[in-house]
Amino acid sequence: MKLFSKTPFDRLSPQEHRQVIAPAFGLILVIVLGLFILGLSPGVSRQIRQTYLGASFLFALDSLVLFRYALLKIRKGDLLPWLILGGHAIGLPVIAVFLPNIGLLFMAILGPITAVLVVILVGRFVAHAFIIINQIALLLLMIVHKPGIFSHYFAVVIILLFNIVFVEVIFRIGQILNQEITHLEVLNHVARQVGSTIEPKQVIELLSNTIREALSADTYYVGIQQNGVLRLEVLYDNGTFFPPQDISSENSVTALVMQRRQSLLLNDVPAELSRMGMQPQSIGEERISLSWMGTPMIAGDRVIGVVAVGAYRYNAFTIHDLRLLENIAQQATLALDNAFHHAEVEEQSRSDSLTGVYNHGYFLLALGEQMRLAQGKGKSLALIMLDIDFFKSYNDTYGHLVGDQVLIHFSDVIRRYIKSIDLVGRWGGEEFVVALPGATGEQATQIAKRISESLRTLQMQDRDGKPIPPPTISQGIAVSPYEANDVYELIDLADQRLYMAKSNGRDQIYPQKGHWEYIKTN
Ligand code: GH3
Ligand code: MG
Ligand code: MG
Repeated sequence: MKLFSKTPFDRLSPQEHRQVIAPAFGLILVIVLGLFILGLSPGVSRQIRQTYLGASFLFALDSLVLFRYALLKIRKGDLLPWLILGGHAIGLPVIAVFLPNIGLLFMAILGPITAVLVVILVGRFVAHAFIIINQIALLLLMIVHKPGIFSHYFAVVIILLFNIVFVEVIFRIGQILNQEITHLEVLNHVARQVGSTIEPKQVIELLSNTIREALSADTYYVGIQQNGVLRLEVLYDNGTFFPPQDISSENSVTALVMQRRQSLLLNDVPAELSRMGMQPQSIGEERISLSWMGTPMIAGDRVIGVVAVGAYRYNAFTIHDLRLLENIAQQATLALDNAFHHAEVEEQSRSDSLTGVYNHGYFLLALGEQMRLAQGKGKSLALIMLDIDFFKSYNDTYGHLVGDQVLIHFSDVIRRYIKSIDLVGRWGGEEFVVALPGATGEQATQIAKRISESLRTLQMQDRDGKPIPPPTISQGIAVSPYEANDVYELIDLADQRLYMAKSNGRDQIYPQKGHWEYIKTN
């Protein structure tokens, strides 16, 4: 994406170009007509009549050619428009110098008009070159044609300087306009892009790319608050991206921006930090930014993060840059908040509301995925089915609320004994299921044992404070690929074994340890 155009006028269409030159063209027509009338008016000498009529003809020709073939056609590769422009720069003074009395006045008008058109339609340096050639040609012609009139020479020099100032003013106004337009374009781009994603990672990447392209920053970072820690998801410094890192943001401008919930712009970091009684800190490269600006990311009433931009030079940023940064950050914050919310809802839709473990549907999906991965790597995957014994009568005796507490404790105990890649799901009611990618039957048995034992030590009380004995559990284990090749076979086998554990008297694990040794040796 090209965020910056060279000048605001680069954005003009041919039709808009014509609109820009139309008034100047009108003025030149008036001049041509005026010269023509002067030439025809009675009482002028033959020589003057010829001069006026000749000048009128030459002006008309020059302007037509200039407007038609040069100003609207100038491109780097084409020689003709440049020749015409050069011819015009020298031709104008040639005509003017022969005009009695009003020559210099015409030059004072026509030079700037062309210069303005050139700075708008072609560019700043061409405009300056045009003026210099134009005025120097006039000066030389005057020196030759009307030697010794120093006041006129002085006037020409002043016209030259005036033209240069004029061109610069127009150019600078254009630049400011251009910056504003670019900012709008950037925001529009961000708004459109941001609306098309709900992935936090993508939003942060978009934010990062936009900052890099839109602000002339040497370094920038995007920090997101997570559990009280500020994590720099993006850290760019001097052409390099650093890996995400947590930072302690105490006593830093970053912290200040988040605490005050206000943006901050520093164009002389060392001086302004020492005024605030703070030490400069460097993240990324060991180098202190001399200019810095940061803005908090506020969603609703929460500060979810911070975006900061730095430069290794003084006075790098204007208030406009800060406003742009704020606007970009605001767009990204909305999108991020949405994305986080979406992720939360998604997480909720995967999990069981009472215990927080995966629900039946999501567990099946995740199990399928893990089995495919394990099979791809030639690894085993063990499945444990767990069911609370006589839970119905437990509920009947102690009440459903106590039953619910037991289920919550039970799921906590399971989670305590498994690794982060393992999966826990609530299969239904008081039946849970655990998948252990990479585990053998023996390892699964070990984990099953620990869960049973841990549950035995659970201390609970009823409403009157009387101790309640924890329930026991029965468990069935099966291992892929040795005993089952697909998800349903594996679940089915573990389920049958759970049933065996139940019918063998409950509070036990089936199969017993010896089974796995048997599998190993066969
Ligand atoms: P078994 O040893 O054969 O598994 O006997 P059981 O009583 O545990 O088995 P059964 O399937 O007959 O009963 C399961 C009970 O689990 C029925 C229901 O009261 C209880 N239950 C299921 N879901 C919940 C729940 O979310 N909260 C509570 N408190 N109880 C539940
Ligand atoms: Mg049960
Ligand atoms: Mg059951």
